[in-house]
Amino acid sequence: KIAGPCSLVLFGITGDLSDRKILPALYDLASHGLLPPSFAITGVARRLKVPLEELVEESIRNFAQTPFDQRVFDQFMGSISVVMGQYDEAKTFQDLRDKLDELDEQQGTGGNHAFYLAVPPDLFPTVLTQLGEAGLSEHPEGWRRVVIEKPFGHDLESSQELNDLVTEVFAPEDVFRIDHYLGKETVQNLLSLRFSNELYEPLWNSDHIDHVQITMAENIGIGSRAGYYDGVGSAKDVIQNHLLQLLALTAMEEPVSFSPHDLRQEKEKVLSALDFFGPVDQSAIRAQYSEGWQGGKFVKAYLDEENIPADSVTDTYAALRLAVRTRRWQGVPFYVRTGKRLARRVTEIAIVFKRPHFLPFEQRVTAGQSNNTLVIRIQPDEGVTFRFGVKVPGASFNVRDVTMDFSYGHAFTEYTPEAYERLILDVLLGEPPLFPQQKEVEESWKILDRAFEYWDTLDTIDTYPPGSWGPLSSDHMLARDGRAWRRA
Ligand code: NAP
Repeated sequence: KIAGPCSLVLFGITGDLSDRKILPALYDLASHGLLPPSFAITGVARRLKVPLEELVEESIRNFAQTPFDQRVFDQFMGSISVVMGQYDEAKTFQDLRDKLDELDEQQGTGGNHAFYLAVPPDLFPTVLTQLGEAGLSEHPEGWRRVVIEKPFGHDLESSQELNDLVTEVFAPEDVFRIDHYLGKETVQNLLSLRFSNELYEPLWNSDHIDHVQITMAENIGIGSRAGYYDGVGSAKDVIQNHLLQLLALTAMEEPVSFSPHDLRQEKEKVLSALDFFGPVDQSAIRAQYSEGWQGGKFVKAYLDEENIPADSVTDTYAALRLAVRTRRWQGVPFYVRTGKRLARRVTEIAIVFKRPHFLPFEQRVTAGQSNNTLVIRIQPDEGVTFRFGVKVPGASFNVRDVTMDFSYGHAFTEYTPEAYERLILDVLLGEPPLFPQQKEVEESWKILDRAFEYWDTLDTIDTYPPGSWGPLSSDHMLARDGRAWRRA
């Protein structure tokens, strides 16, 4: 599907996100012929440290999925220009308006403009106000859309303030909030796995499912992101958006259609029914990585990283034990966890089924058999695995777990678009199902706010060794329930 004529305005074209994600995704779309024939990209920047062409070429050579092709690049580069200026000066926005008018006339972009705010959130008020004052957020003929990146605030109140700010200038249906996890193939596949197969849905409830584990683990530390990370931490950076969106897709009822409205309504219902599974102080764990050896290298503790205050209590690991208060999920805990400097990089949803009610071979089952587990692997190596017990060959009747494995990379030769390609295309097409709406954001913050209310009463923070699976307190949270985290 190809969008109609339009232009994309990229605030922050010189930034990290543009460099690693947005420009490469646009080039990949261009390589696959998925950009509209009448399409223009207008960057807005206060300074260019290298010439525009060099900046774009570098980004594409480093991060695009498709190999560099001079012909595609020349054509792509022909669609890019830049407006220079400060974001707090009206002149910058008058120049931008003149540029967009010129593009509408000369390139036929039809008055359809998407504004991508790839700038630090503290600049959102300035940019949005200026867009409004310059009359750029409305147009009698074409459409106007705005794209914002997480974080959508840092708590419930600030997310509402941000929303008020954005919707003062743009209509609510024209606001596209990017949670790039929703652009990933496996996340969308979760819906087809559940709703276009007969096997899973009849079992997808508390009669058969013991619990769910949702993990996003990174093996790296904070790198050079201290400025952004400290004071935010893992729970706000990852659980509030990515992991609670994954939880909503895992737990939601079948939507009556895949229209944006119906899909988002079902997600929203789950998030509204979200609660802690038991008292908060027994269902919310936070911790920081300590120093130690990881992968043959000695690594610093979080508190020793550059520019981190010595008394910081920012979490680099967080785990929550949640409940979805609906009939379908009565008594089923949803354990979510995320962390840096963990044993390995993996994002997955594990559906852990109950043990069979009756085991005729009970005495002979070996220690090698555990609960049937369906794992939806989001990264790396996107796919689905199922662990189930089979008889060990031989005269005796022993049962042991084996894995049935589906990997996107092996099963399909088709090109798999990167999440940003899919999401940018959807912005240009005006198709919002993969973008969370404000109500979902608010419901997610309500849970996080309760965790922070509890954590703020603590003076200390747990630690965990680098390369481990997190703090002992998190293991204990599951052990008290008679369960254990997957060592994925
Ligand atoms: P960034 O690299 O720090 O900066 C983005 C852009 O903002 C740069 O082009 C920078 O211009 C410009 N900028 C900063 N301060 C400015 C000012 N006072 N006046 C004018 N321009 C200014 O940020 P980023 O990492 O790309 O992130 C952009 C957005 O995406 C943020 O909202 C962030 O939260 C979100 N996000 C980023 C990532 C990521 O992986 N990077 C992931 C998820 C979400 P200069 O080059 O002139 O400094």
